[in-house]
Amino acid sequence: MIDRLCIIGVGLIGGSLARALRAAGYCREVVGSGRDPAHLQQAVDLGVIDRFDTDLEAAVAGADMVLVAVPLGAMQTVFSRIRDHLDDNAVLTDAGSAKASVIEAAQQSFGRVPERFVPGHPIAGTEYSGVAASLPDLYHNRHVILTPLDHTDTDAIDRVRRMWEAAGAVVTSMDAIHHDAVLAATSHLPHVLAFTLVDTLSTLDDREELFEYAAGGFRDFTRIASSDPVMWRDICLANGDAIQLLIDRFIEDLQSLSRAVHTHDGQRLLDVFESAKQARDAFVKK
Ligand code: NAD
Repeated sequence: MIDRLCIIGVGLIGGSLARALRAAGYCREVVGSGRDPAHLQQAVDLGVIDRFDTDLEAAVAGADMVLVAVPLGAMQTVFSRIRDHLDDNAVLTDAGSAKASVIEAAQQSFGRVPERFVPGHPIAGTEYSGVAASLPDLYHNRHVILTPLDHTDTDAIDRVRRMWEAAGAVVTSMDAIHHDAVLAATSHLPHVLAFTLVDTLSTLDDREELFEYAAGGFRDFTRIASSDPVMWRDICLANGDAIQLLIDRFIEDLQSLSRAVHTHDGQRLLDVFESAKQARDAFVKK
């Protein structure tokens, strides 16, 4: 059980964890913090948190678990502000979508990555943002990846693992660099492609007509282009090297496909589409 959970950034991710833990009776009290008192009041009104304090330093005092769920670009500022105000036994964790950059932010802010800091990433979300979009079952049967360092306290890791399990998640661990490479492929590149596709189409002269006739395929492919632009700017900046490698690889494959279209190479097109269909069908089945 957690006695007092402090969530800094009570949006989709932080709010969903609060809802899940409250539903499970896993926390005595949930204190929210962040920049915007109106959003935090909304979180109280929705029953997501018990109370809030926009003063981050005061909000973390007395908390035995602190989750930082702000955009990646705000992590270092938040760490620096709470650094001298955490209880000695408090466990600190985060939900950022890239991990090496958060560990670097902790290093910069604390001087050394704290032993009781457990970097984490719930592999769950929607294209919506804010506490009003938060869901109590967002983490049910979803993966949460922890990326502890060699010197991370095992009790702290255990507490963070049990917290996410209480929210219904399946918790695994891996090295932060490996995490960033995996997520660049499975999440970051697809978001970049969806944003770029919609942007390309929306700058064509006949865009009004194009969107008028866009059907289910377009909707499926581009759903994630409705995600928060600030969050995705931060992810691309934070995990730039890994994402860049995959964009380059994708451009090569797209050029190869473009040549196949240009030269009427039906066999090449069929090979690519069959191989992709097999891979996706196997993924969906799993
Ligand atoms: P969100 O916009 O719904 O919530 C972010 C919250 O942080 C808001 O309440 C905002 O007011 C607050 N905030 C922003 N800047 C702040 C600052 N400087 N100081 C204090 N509070 C600040 O975003 P979200 O989707 O909940 O994402 C939060 C984190 O979780 C991000 O790091 C993101 O990378 C990660 N994440 C998101 C998803 C997803 O699908 N949305 C999935 C996994 C992880």
